[in-house]
Amino acid sequence: MAVGRALVTGGSRGIGREVALRLAADGYDIAFCSRVGGEAAEKTSNDITALGVACHFARCDVADAAEVESFVSEAEEALGKVTAVVCNAGVTRDAPIALMPPADWAAVLDTNLTGAWNVCRALGFRFMKRGGGAIVAVSSISGLDGLAGQTNYAASKAGIIGLSRSLAKELAPYGARVNVVAPGFIETDMTAALPARRRAAARESVPLGRFGSAAEVAEPVAFLLSDRASYITGQVLRVDGGMVAP
Ligand code: NAP
Repeated sequence: MAVGRALVTGGSRGIGREVALRLAADGYDIAFCSRVGGEAAEKTSNDITALGVACHFARCDVADAAEVESFVSEAEEALGKVTAVVCNAGVTRDAPIALMPPADWAAVLDTNLTGAWNVCRALGFRFMKRGGGAIVAVSSISGLDGLAGQTNYAASKAGIIGLSRSLAKELAPYGARVNVVAPGFIETDMTAALPARRRAAARESVPLGRFGSAAEVAEPVAFLLSDRASYITGQVLRVDGGMVAP
């Protein structure tokens, strides 16, 4: 018998994949989506079911509210009522503001912020009606401290914090919790795409002297979703190897 049903957006690769596997190891049945899907999603699906829990995957662009509602409905038909949610799907389109096309501002805000809002709206309403549930949204230190070249991404990640803190207050009377993790530099495809010079500078800015692993983000996400965090809501937890705000 599963301990619950967890829905993870952007679960095919990187942090989302590790979160899905960590929650599967805890005994959750897992629903996850990604926009492209493909071999990465297939591998994650297989790795989840190998842990002995049920898995539902669908291609879904979180920026599209109708696709999100279908994904959530189909996931619940397949697995049962979702009890835990991780708003993880995210993209970067870095550039100095003078060189950033408006389309890159819109694409990042649409996926990272509107995407999280679409998922929170679909599940938040269900959690209100059912009286319970837990959400963790994945922000970034960029949303807290700012990073040059990331005006679009930082705005989206700061927005996630405002969204989550407000939703935490809306859902608290219904017994549901909402928290945020704000990772620093984590080894995934996203940071592998950084130029070598930016990677080296980033590493030097981390007091622990290295990038984190996706598993090191999955662990606090699993904690915040669990009953071990039953009195924690509306919080932002930095997972950044000791970086502090300037
Ligand atoms: P990643 O390796 O690039 O993986 C991103 C995941 O999101 C993939 O599964 C991707 O799948 C999915 N995705 C992208 N756009 C989507 C969309 N529109 N709809 C649904 N799924 C979508 O990235 P990551 O490093 O694991 O990042 C995960 C989250 O952590 C993001 O929100 C990111 O901003 C945040 N974060 C990362 C770091 C870091 O250093 N890596 C630091 C702070 C915060 P498809 O390609 O199939 O769509």
